[in-house]
This record gives sequence, structure tokens and C-alpha cells, in this order.
Amino acid sequence: MASNRKVMVLPGDGIGVEVMAANMKVIDWLAKHKSLDFDMSEGLVGGTSYDAHGTPLTDETLADSVASDAILFGAVGGPQYDALDFSLKPERGLLTLRKEMDLFANLRPAIVFDALVDSSTLKREVVEGLNIMILRELCGGSYFAEPRGIDDQADGTRKGYDTNAYSTPEIERIGRVAFDLARKRNGKVTSVEKSNVMYSGILWREVMTELHQAEGSDIEMGHMYADNCAMQLVRNPRQFDVIVTDNLFGDLLSDCAAMLTGSLGMLPSASLGLPDAETGLPKAMYEPVHGSAPDIAGQDLANPLAQFLSFAMMLRYSFGQSEEADLVEAAVAGALASGKRTGDIMAPGCEQVGTEGMAQAVLAEMDKLAR
Ligand code: NAD
Repeated sequence: MASNRKVMVLPGDGIGVEVMAANMKVIDWLAKHKSLDFDMSEGLVGGTSYDAHGTPLTDETLADSVASDAILFGAVGGPQYDALDFSLKPERGLLTLRKEMDLFANLRPAIVFDALVDSSTLKREVVEGLNIMILRELCGGSYFAEPRGIDDQADGTRKGYDTNAYSTPEIERIGRVAFDLARKRNGKVTSVEKSNVMYSGILWREVMTELHQAEGSDIEMGHMYADNCAMQLVRNPRQFDVIVTDNLFGDLLSDCAAMLTGSLGMLPSASLGLPDAETGLPKAMYEPVHGSAPDIAGQDLANPLAQFLSFAMMLRYSFGQSEEADLVEAAVAGALASGKRTGDIMAPGCEQVGTEGMAQAVLAEMDKLAR
């Protein structure tokens, strides 16, 4: 059993606080029934940090986060902070953490739970049993590479531009994460770019091919153009296991894949950095995909399952506790199968519960599964 693994808990704002409080009950359950102990610290981030300290992330919280093995994050943001300067907005806290910890690998699973198969806009036979992983490069490409900007032109017009640049090491390190993930899943990687029209895509395909030959012979790898991948995700998503792609395509394709599953309240994510030289653990942050949902905050309406599933990813990817991760995921599936639903995933014939009610339903399933 792992113990004394350092976890930094950052609930953030709005429903982040509520879903994290629910998550703590799952953590307490694991401590009590599975002797699973974490060395946990809690900090402020986003609007709550701005309210207390005038900044969305203090140096101290950043240092504590960097020193931890994993960050469990809720959500940040709120309309009361909309008028703040860009550097003080709640979301800056999140972006600073990602950047300072060089969290370059963004993992977004798209899983369709049996009980929610009819929540998808796609037909049951297309999405039933879906379980794929979109791996998006998070620190390079169009959102960061230079030159980028808006220039005034001599003719009085303006020109906005971004650069989609990737270097060999940037492609190799995300490629390695893809192979590692595939080894823990169904052994298949689809590398996605647009090498038909982009130089960065040509290099991406070449480097992935070489990496596959050198380090991934146990993995089945194919290549696909990003536009075709978007079509295939909607036509036949179950053909995929791990999709690895750049920052821009990953942003679009992960949102597309997410919607196959039906609800924002169900979507977990992980952002990983390079493994630490001493511990071998990657720097990592785990967070639900959804935001702080100000429209439902403070009303016991938030679905906590994306938070629980993010925590399960933390168990699996940061601490190698697959058994406990499986338990949490099975308990989530069980709670849904029992007919309990928060408002966002409510369906005819089901029983509507709040955040607390859903947490209790998951804990009851964990009790059952542990028997
Ligand atoms: P949102 O994800 O907060 O909410 C979108 C819609 O989905 C809302 O109607 C909300 O009620 C619903 N929803 C979201 N999560 C839910 C859950 N767990 N259970 C039930 N319903 C849920 O996105 P938004 O409204 O565009 O943004 C609100 C704030 O959150 C903004 O300040 C935005 O910048 C911020 N945001 C933060 C993150 C993050 O912290 N990672 C991500 C996205 C948005």
C-alpha cells in the first residue's frame, strides 16, 4: 500500500469546492477500508486565492504544488472575476501550474458507461462500451510556438498569426507517453497530424514512425490525418485505443470525443510531466474537464463523478494503484446502474440526487464491492 505520497489538494472556486469535498469522502473511505494514506495539503487557487491574497496562485502554493507528487484540482473561475486584469484572472492560476510543472501530456479518456449509453447523441450501437484515450500535447504547437502576435501592416490593415512548430524532442516525449498508455490499455496508438499539408505534420509523422521502430515494436501504431480522425470519431469511435496528437488538434478532437459520452459532469483528465529522476513519478495534475459552473454552485447540484474519475486516474497514473482505481471506477458505474442521477445526466425513471447523494451512492457501491 502506498503511504506518504504527497498530494496537493486545490479545490478552487464554485462547484470545485463541492465536488472536492465529496472526493474527500472517497479518500477517507479508502484510508479506512484499504489503508490507503496520502500526505495531503490543501491550498487556495483561482478566485478564492485572489480574494484572500490578491493573486490566483501564491508563490507558496505554487512551491507546495511543485513539491508534491500529484495535484488534485477542482475548478476555477466565476463571473465576479471577469473584469480583472488577464494576469489576475482565476484561470491564470491553473495555467501557471501547468506551465511551471511542464505538464506536457494531457490525458482525456472518453468512456461511455453502460447506464449512460442513451445520453450520447450518437446511436447506442456506435458508442456502447466506448473507452478511448485522447492524448494531447499541451505545452507546444500553435498555442505557444513563436512567432505569434498581431502586427500592424504598412497598408493600414492588421495581421494575426500563430506558428505550429514542433521539435523532435517534443514529439518524442509525447510519443513515449502514448506508447506507455497503450501498454496499459489495448496496445494500439493512432498518431494524428496533417502531414499532407503541414511541415510540422511531416516531422510529427517521421518522428513517430522512427520512435515506433526504436521503442514501440510491442505497440500497434497507425497514422491518420486530423480531419479524417474527426470523422472517424463520430463514425466509428471504437476503432481507437490511444489517439496522440498536437495541442491544437488535441483541443478539438478531445472535445469531440468528450461529447460522445454525453455529459461534462462525467469527464476526468490528467496532465502529466516527465518522470522525476528520484521517484520515477511524473509531475501530475488531475482535474475534471468542467469549470466552476457558477450557475449551479452552492446548491448541491453538481455532479461529482468527473472529480472522482480524475482521482481514480491519480491512483492509476501517479501511484500505480490500479486495484483501487478500478474500485472507484466500478463504484461510479454501479452508482449509475442503481439509477441515481444528478440533474445533468438525469433520465426518465431514474432518481435525482445532489452532489452529496451521488457521493453516498458511490460510497455505498464501494462498500458492496469491498465485501
Ligand atoms: P462550466 O464547465 O463551468 O459549465 C458549463 C455548463 O455545464 C453549466 O451549465 C454548468 O452548470 C454545467 N456543468 C459543468 N460541470 C458540471 C457538473 N459537474 N455537474 C453538473 N453540471 C455541470 O463552463 P462555463 O460555464 O463556460 O465556465 C464557468 C467558469 O469556469 C468560467 O469562469 C470559466 O472560465 C471556468 N472554467 C474553468 C475550467 C477549469 O477550472 N479547468 C474549465 C472550464 C471553464
